[in-house]
Amino acid sequence: MAHTIPTRLYAAEDAIPRFWYNLRADMTEKPDPILHPGTLRPASPEDLEGVFCKESVKQELDETTRLVEIPEGLRDFYRAYRPAPLIRAYFLEKALDTPAEIYYKHEGTNTSGSHKLNSAAAQAFYAKEEGLSGLTTETGAGQWGSALAMACAFFGLRLTVYMVKVSAAQKPYRKALMETYGAEVVPSPSDTTEAGKRILSQDPDTSGSLGCAISEAIEKAVRAEGCRYVLGSVLNHVLLHQSIIGQEVKAAFDHYGIRPDIIIGCAGGGSNLGGLIAPFMGERLRGVSKTRFIAVEPASCPSFTRGIYAYDFGDTARTTPLIKMYTLGSGFIPSPNHAGGLRYHGMNPTLSKLYRDGFLEARAETQTDVFDAAVRFAKIEGILPAPESSHAIKAAIDEALECKRTGEKKTILFGLTGTGYFDMTAYTAYNAGTMTDYIPTDEDLAKGFSSLPQTAR
Ligand SMILES: *Cc1c(COP(=O)(O)O)cnc(C)c1O
Repeated sequence: MAHTIPTRLYAAEDAIPRFWYNLRADMTEKPDPILHPGTLRPASPEDLEGVFCKESVKQELDETTRLVEIPEGLRDFYRAYRPAPLIRAYFLEKALDTPAEIYYKHEGTNTSGSHKLNSAAAQAFYAKEEGLSGLTTETGAGQWGSALAMACAFFGLRLTVYMVKVSAAQKPYRKALMETYGAEVVPSPSDTTEAGKRILSQDPDTSGSLGCAISEAIEKAVRAEGCRYVLGSVLNHVLLHQSIIGQEVKAAFDHYGIRPDIIIGCAGGGSNLGGLIAPFMGERLRGVSKTRFIAVEPASCPSFTRGIYAYDFGDTARTTPLIKMYTLGSGFIPSPNHAGGLRYHGMNPTLSKLYRDGFLEARAETQTDVFDAAVRFAKIEGILPAPESSHAIKAAIDEALECKRTGEKKTILFGLTGTGYFDMTAYTAYNAGTMTDYIPTDEDLAKGFSSLPQTAR
């Protein structure tokens, strides 16, 4: 059976983009600036360079350069696993009996198993160029830590990873993978930092949170010589690196004359969604397309759909600069029964602004619905998806079924951010029927909101 559009779409033999795309350059209304938490003035490069690499800071603060060149040494590394497959979901379309065309970008083909390697490699590359010897970071579900461990091994940097305690317990093989690539992994909160000790003294049985692990990683980086902290999501420079996803899709779609009507991504801190939609959102902002963009988040950590748009800290110990974003409050800790990543309290400031201004839609899904979609997808398309990615799958299936109802032949694209091989504890719970849903009450959320800084609004 020959299709006019092949199952796997590439623009060309060597389809590694030469440029990242900086979406902020095409926004007439820019996101609010990052603030220094003490002075409440926009953070200067000097404010940020004690913690982050210089190039990351430069990219973070750059709102005007549309296209940022990807260094050649980094493109060489990208060639090892990119371009990521862009797949026409013929089997899924048939199974759903929908007139919609469905495509997905599969970012899970590298060993770390997710899109996070795109930014991990970029940040490790710059750290090495800047003469640093080591990096620290946090990891929640473990994908970011795994990606950075791979990147640090390749570019020759030491790495300490603070891993959210509940995830370290649920995913021992993630820890083993990071250690195999040479990283030191510390379950967080730990007694190796002041921030960790403080949180443990308040709540010795805490299951940990990303915000808390971030505090520990920053503290460790600031204290060690030649060491910086790197973050795998939320910030704008991470979104910039992830725009390679959208750049590849755009090139392939243009090559085949495909125009997406709906683009869907799961949203934790917003990096894959922001990267996937970037060039397409640029077209919408310039008024040349009407593509709809949908963020899908867990009902147990609903930053967009139930959060507040406010200045907030990025971490529990309130050490980071203040970021204007949709947030549940840095004190929010999602229920430990939540299996599927996407646990961060806030959301990337650029996506927050776009959501605020009506360019981006959002919806929240419960984890049992998400796993229903995951297993359905695995059986039909053959790929075992990460629980995070399955939020996008759920929404893509719903949109395709809506097309079936209305008879519209829409083109739907979603981000398959990773594979679920390390998530078998969660799949086991789903298969056994013991997986439960927890949707925070307004009272639960109020606790998180009470942690919002009152100084900046
Ligand atoms: C980290 C992760 C996400 C969520 O992070 P974003 O920054 O929102 O993209 C989604 N899917 C997978 C597989 C991940 O590892």
